Amino acid sequence: MTQATQTKINPNNLTCSPLAGLKCKECGAEYEAKAIHVCELCFGPLEVKYNYDVIKSRVTRETIQAGPNSIWRYRDFLPVTSEEPIDVGTGMTPLIKSTRLARRLGLKNLYIKNDAVNMPTLSFKDRVVSVALTRAKELGFTTVSCASTGNLANSTAAIAAHAGLDCCVFIPSDLEAGKVLGTLIYNPTVMAVKGNYDQVNRLCCEVANTHGWGFVNINLRPYYSEGSKTLGFEVAEQLGWKLPDHIVAPLASGSLYTKIYKGFQEFVKVGLVEDKAVKFSGAQAEGCSPIAQAFAENRDFITPVKPNTIAKSIAIGNPADGIYAVELAQKTGGHIAAVTDAEIIAGIKLLAETEGIFTETAGGTTIAVLQKLVAEGKIDPEEITVVYITGNGLKTQEAVQGYIGEPFTIEAKLDSFERAYERAQTLDRLDWEPVLV
Ligand SMILES: *Cc1c(COP(=O)(O)O)cnc(C)c1O
Repeated sequence: MTQATQTKINPNNLTCSPLAGLKCKECGAEYEAKAIHVCELCFGPLEVKYNYDVIKSRVTRETIQAGPNSIWRYRDFLPVTSEEPIDVGTGMTPLIKSTRLARRLGLKNLYIKNDAVNMPTLSFKDRVVSVALTRAKELGFTTVSCASTGNLANSTAAIAAHAGLDCCVFIPSDLEAGKVLGTLIYNPTVMAVKGNYDQVNRLCCEVANTHGWGFVNINLRPYYSEGSKTLGFEVAEQLGWKLPDHIVAPLASGSLYTKIYKGFQEFVKVGLVEDKAVKFSGAQAEGCSPIAQAFAENRDFITPVKPNTIAKSIAIGNPADGIYAVELAQKTGGHIAAVTDAEIIAGIKLLAETEGIFTETAGGTTIAVLQKLVAEGKIDPEEITVVYITGNGLKTQEAVQGYIGEPFTIEAKLDSFERAYERAQTLDRLDWEPVLV
């Protein structure tokens, strides 16, 4: 193991820390808060356990509001012990009350949580990585890594650079150019693996065992996944300390989706918001929809698939938290649906044209599923509905290439402009609707 023998903070000195250890989600066995993620007894996933009495005694709406304008205002709910977590301004992204998209869909109370402008790398992954790398430092890791569908590599490389950690990331070799460049710029070691994400992930599990690195979504996964709770905390705070009626979020491994729920529950548990039934709906791309399929067939197991979709950032064929996501949709009365690549492109364009938000394929998937659920009567127009936009469109430009307009190239002369403008008025904007074969 390359774990440093000396760290400034003793990660096991949890006296008075809300962080109480790890617990198996299946059999309940308890462990110290170390870099482990699988139960030794039943192989179930480990989850962070907190002392909620300690949190309750420390935290009020006022103490949170007086905290930093980042995810770290919720520090007592996050699995770290440092006085100074890695704060690169992650979180507190806008929650926007939608008017034009809402009207288009026939909804009265639609809100958009816009993580397309998260810091530092424009996706929700900055949340999970800020938490995972803070914990990695506490545990003494000097090299960090991840198995990524794109955004995670961006976040890990950027935040590792900021924190002065060595970084080696693994991605499938067919990722969008923006995701690759947006990793390389931070100068980590990048392994582009000939294979899909699930193959990348399998390789990384072996490397994690042999190299002793901190893999944010493997051996640090219990800490990493807690970062997604902040998507629940922020929405509750931004709605004026209230829970919504319905949320719609994208699903890759299913982690983000289930952790929004955990975030809401924790706020209820410590008395920050009133309890309320929230419906959890989820979005997948048809070309990689193992969770939506399990939901549709009412199964209690996931059948892995081989991904084939433009929504690469959420293309996980064998999702680790898939079954927990199905259970959550079932028990809250939500729905998990899938949409085609053409619908995803239309979803990206719809959000851009109605709200001025340019999202990536994952966001297009979520908007298209929102539209579908409304059309099927599965979202009531009166419900306070929050749709989670988790990534930025500038990173997946390939997806919309050929499905948007083109500039008019003109001479630097007034009559050239006038002629072009006249032509522009006659163009039917619907010409640009995506037609995929
Ligand atoms: C990773 C990712 C998700 C979903 O991640 P989970 O594995 O389900 O937590 C959603 N949107 C974007 C843009 C992502 O990069």
